[in-house]
This record gives sequence, structure tokens and C-alpha cells, in this order.
Amino acid sequence: MPQAEFRFYEELNDYLPPALRKRSFVRAFDGTPAVKDVIEAVGVPHTEVDLILVDGRSVGFAHRLRGGERVAVYPVFERLDIRPLLRLRPRPLRVTRFVADVHLGTLARYLRLLGFDTVYRNDLDDPQLVRISVNERRVLLTRDVGLLKHGALTHGYWLRSTAPRRQLAEVIDALSLRREIRPFTRCMRCNGELRVIPRAAAKGRVPEHVYRRSRRFVQCADCGNVYWRGTHFQRLERLVRELRSSRRRRERPRDARQGHSRRDGVPALRRASHDRS
Ligand SMILES: [Zn+2]
Repeated sequence: MPQAEFRFYEELNDYLPPALRKRSFVRAFDGTPAVKDVIEAVGVPHTEVDLILVDGRSVGFAHRLRGGERVAVYPVFERLDIRPLLRLRPRPLRVTRFVADVHLGTLARYLRLLGFDTVYRNDLDDPQLVRISVNERRVLLTRDVGLLKHGALTHGYWLRSTAPRRQLAEVIDALSLRREIRPFTRCMRCNGELRVIPRAAAKGRVPEHVYRRSRRFVQCADCGNVYWRGTHFQRLERLVRELRSSRRRRERPRDARQGHSRRDGVPALRRASHDRS
């Protein structure tokens, strides 16, 4: 039976049984399979793969293995500088957008808080999630590895963590998104964009004491909710700061300096209580 030697890099090792992680191992196969099929048979979804080197030459997913090759497999996204080589995707998603599976409601709200366009509904089944991801060019977020192996899918990310705040840090980190954070520009409830409204327009839509105290109000363009700087604003600001600083420690100094020059978006946190009982 023909066989090839495989080595997976960086977080792709998370998909492998411990004995195969971070080292070369031999894999046997029948006939002349596409390299993509052998990689997925080992357990790694193709959506996580951005570069495959066969005997030092970059190849596409359809490349046929014949036996005797050395195969190196690298993860999606910007962890490694692989620009001179053939990437499996001709261009990255221009604007990073997400669709989150039904178990990731809290993560979806966190992502919206940071300004990332994130589709989430608790009634979407797997085929719907895949369709939204492909049609709207959204990165599919899930804890279900099997879902990422869906053939039509091109962009997906498997969350290692189960805790929403850790998941948020994981996504920001894995996709190098720190510089794209635009806090408090998107409605946490419905994903609509927030825009500043004249103070007078908030009268009657927020509690009277809030209206008297607050100068600045924003409203969701989609659901109409009015937000203002509430008591948990500081807690959320601290979360944003933590995410940015944890990235700063890991990234190159050049990136860190650029991170300081960007202004935050509209600060707005409390949701109007008119829809609460
Ligand atoms: Zn909204």
C-alpha cells in the first residue's frame, strides 16, 4: 500500500491524536487519493488548511498522492508568512464576517460588541449555516469539527474553548483581528449598525433619569433599540482593553504601534428598557 509522510503545523495539531502531534508520521492510502481527502481522513478539516507543501512544492487540494511524498500542512490565516507560496484561497475575506452556530450565542454577542458582523440565530441547522457562510462569505464558527468538513465550506474556524470570553480571545487571536476591533458600533441583540441620534430623539425611549444624565445616545438601525453609556460600560471597556493588550504582547512591535493610532467607535452600552418587562 502506498504511503506518505505527513507533518501538521501550529494549531492544526489540535485535530490530531496526541501521538501524532508536532512530529512527522506515515500514513498509508489506497490508489492515488487527492491530498485533501487524506488530510481530512487524518482528522483535519480542509477549511483550516491554507498551505500544503508536497516535497517542498505548494499544491492545491486536488493534488494526487502516489506514495513516497513528504507532505507539510499549514493552517489558515495569517500566522505564518507564506505569501510567496501558493495559498489555497486566492484572496482572504476582505472584511471579516461571521456566522456562529446555534451553541455560540454568547460569543456572537461578544463579537458584535467588538463591531464584527456576526449572524446568529438559535434555529439554524447545519445546511443553513454552511449556505450562509458560503453565500455571504462569512467565517463559520463552531465547536463541531464535523461541520467544518462540509465540502462546500471555504472559511471556518473550530473553537477549542468552551468559555465565551476565552472563545472571543481565541477568534481575535487566530484570525489576527485586533486591528479590526470597532467596539460599540453594532447592536449586540440583532447585529444592526449603531448610529448616533440627537439627544432629543432619545426622550421617551429611555428612562427619564437616564435621559437627564446622559448626553450621547445611539440607536440600532435595524431593531431601533437605543443605547447609552450604562453601568456595565466600564466592564466592557476593560474587556476590550484586555483583548487588545493580550494581542499586543504576542504581536510584533510594528503592529502594536499601529494599534494605538485607531480611535474607538461610538461608546454605547445599555439597551433601552422599553422592551423589557
Ligand atoms: Zn438591533
